[in-house]
Amino acid sequence: MGELLVLIDHAEGQPRKLSLQMLTAANQVASQTGDTVSAVWLGEGASGAADVLGRHGATKLYAWDSPDALGYVTLPQVEALQQVMETSGAEILFFASTNLIKDVAARLAIRVDGGVITDATGVEVADGRIVATKEIFGGELITKCTFADGRKQIVGISNNAFAAEETGGGAAEVVNLDVSLSEAATAAKVTNVEKQVTSDRPDIAEAAVVVAGGRGLGDEQGFELMEQLADVLGAGVGASRAATDAGWYPHRYQIGQTGRTVSPMLYIGSGISGAIQHRAGMQTSQNIIAINKDGEAPIFSIADFGIVGDLYTVVPKLIEELQAR
Ligand code: FAD
Repeated sequence: MGELLVLIDHAEGQPRKLSLQMLTAANQVASQTGDTVSAVWLGEGASGAADVLGRHGATKLYAWDSPDALGYVTLPQVEALQQVMETSGAEILFFASTNLIKDVAARLAIRVDGGVITDATGVEVADGRIVATKEIFGGELITKCTFADGRKQIVGISNNAFAAEETGGGAAEVVNLDVSLSEAATAAKVTNVEKQVTSDRPDIAEAAVVVAGGRGLGDEQGFELMEQLADVLGAGVGASRAATDAGWYPHRYQIGQTGRTVSPMLYIGSGISGAIQHRAGMQTSQNIIAINKDGEAPIFSIADFGIVGDLYTVVPKLIEELQAR
């Protein structure tokens, strides 16, 4: 019996929702491998989260509170994780499958003689090894992947693939780490970070509801309508690439193969045709509503509910109806 590690993704002292979902996935795996689940927290604020992480099934919380821990520089994180894997003897590490951490995961895998599977939407155990479910080719195929024998298993978990469930455990035991970094790891330092996003709306990768607009909006004013709809639903706003390329909405909100991946409880797409590259970033949404004036638009083939009509007629009515509730 060993430890299964979960690298906690956090912001402003709070674990992100995906971190709690990863703990649920880890507990499912640990119940089959006989491991216990330990969380790893890089950066400040670990002790304040020991309670919530414990309630979601982490028995131990490895914490490295250092300015080097969260500087958007890869190597310090890699070396800290390498140390935790080696000292704990853990064979498996789960991480949030974001671009920032994928970089860390790949370098870590080389150092610990491991493999990496990213963007897993399901995890099972067969012959003592993780078998992960993963979509490829923009979601055209669903694959099952596993690791070569004897390799450490580093698995990136997708947003909203698991529900975050409390296990009834008490606060996780905090174990403070003392990490001695190599010269290479401290060669580059971040000296200043400015937060660019000022919106009060939830981040699209985490939001329970995402409202997305495409070329069918016609111009950038169309996004004001999307924001109105988002605000009555407490949603995040996303866009197709056609809309971001036209400069109607910032690129950081682009959903799709070359943008962000969203997997909310509810996705509402207006004036979006549903090209494969867009679907790659939203088709794992639990409920999809499409509003499009072309009844043949491909998005309807993956929509749970479709409205064929002009979005400028449909969306204001929808907002009115929702506001009346
Ligand atoms: P369109 O395909 O032009 O669709 C507009 C839709 O709006 C139409 O279906 C039309 O019927 C409907 N419409 C028009 N007016 C109205 C109205 N008044 N009311 C209701 N409906 C209306 N795309 C992405 O989105 N994300 C990506 O990450 C991405 N990556 C790409 C990567 C590569 C390598 C390539 C080649 C392409 C990529 N694309 C991506 C682009 C993708 O192929 C499509 O071109 C793009 O998604 C189309 O955006 P759209 O649906 O907004 O526009």
